[in-house]
Amino acid sequence: MNLSTKILIGLALGIIAGLELGAEGAGFAKTWIGPLGTIFMNMIKMVIVPLVFSSLVIGVTSLGDIKKVGRIGVKTVAYYLVTTAFAIVIGLAIGTIMQPGVGLHMAVDTAKVAAKAAPPISKVIIDIFPTNPLEAMVKANMLQIIVFSLFVGTGITVVGEKANALKHTIDGLAEVSYKIVGMIMAVAPIGVFGLITPVVASNGPAVLLPLLKVVIAVYLACLLHAVLVYGSMIKFLAGMGFIQFIKGIAPASLMAFSSCSSGGTLPLTMSCAQKMGASKEVSSFVLPLGATINMDGTAAYQGVCALFIAQLYGIDLTASQYMTIIVTGTLASIGTAGVPGAGFIMLTMILTSLGLPLEGSALIAGIDRILDMPRTSVNITGDAAVTLLVDKSEKKHAEAEAPLY
Ligand code: ASP
Repeated sequence: MNLSTKILIGLALGIIAGLELGAEGAGFAKTWIGPLGTIFMNMIKMVIVPLVFSSLVIGVTSLGDIKKVGRIGVKTVAYYLVTTAFAIVIGLAIGTIMQPGVGLHMAVDTAKVAAKAAPPISKVIIDIFPTNPLEAMVKANMLQIIVFSLFVGTGITVVGEKANALKHTIDGLAEVSYKIVGMIMAVAPIGVFGLITPVVASNGPAVLLPLLKVVIAVYLACLLHAVLVYGSMIKFLAGMGFIQFIKGIAPASLMAFSSCSSGGTLPLTMSCAQKMGASKEVSSFVLPLGATINMDGTAAYQGVCALFIAQLYGIDLTASQYMTIIVTGTLASIGTAGVPGAGFIMLTMILTSLGLPLEGSALIAGIDRILDMPRTSVNITGDAAVTLLVDKSEKKHAEAEAPLY
């Protein structure tokens, strides 16, 4: 039996147990079943700092020789960041229109949460820059860790050979972190059971039915992003028909949909992109980078889910909090590992930076695998779209540079 079936079973059993226990059994559920979920969440939080630091540093160092790949790198990163920001905006728009979290009544004291005033945007920007990277890690300040990681990654690339040992160590840390995520995901069915049971017991079906709305919202946001953003990119910038592109990338998209891993799909994404005409030179650089740093589907999901949780707790987000979602989400997508469930960990980071209650993500955790499928599919489709674009512009560049006779 695969993990997603097991998680669905954990979720279903949690719902049944919660309904059985009902409001009278809510205390029992909280005391005896809840800790399973809390331990699961603690383990996820445990791996956030090493995972973000190492995968982001390695993401930056996969740029390789900076002079050689500089031009391609700048173009690639710019496309990746812009498309990711678009994806979050689409997610936020769908979340605003569909309002998946409105009308839910959680038995949680929101007064304390609402009292947290959003810091002014200038402070948000100033606070991105750490004075002490270790302190940033101890406090799990994600934006500061991201900035530090960008410096370390760039430093390693510039120093070159002398920094090889450091690079390999951090690469090892990244691999170990991915493995830990895998181990944690193995107990996810139990964790999901522990998370969902007390919620259902104290809130009843009213909480669960609207989850369907979140699922629809995330799928819709992913679909819209693919059609609108990749559709126009492919047609106007890569000079290819969108249907032709979708047909070409379909094998990789389907594998991503079922495996929920951009990293694991990479070999197939490369072969699909090359079959569509992308050069080996460009695709072997742009795609691995994309599998590490470009997560459009994840970004769209984060936009929808952040709004869902804010709506769930009746918190009105300010304009600067919307900006925080876009900036944090775009940067978070760089640090999101291409492994199943990594986007959910990044969601908890966005919630933390917004001051939203982390507990809200318990509902998302229960259905996360279902949401991971479309977002991973869109993640790798985005990598391929950018690859074709960069390849096309490199070919144009080469033509322009070529001697006339
Ligand atoms: N599973 C996604 C990927 O591999 C990352 C995520 O969880 O959003 O692309």
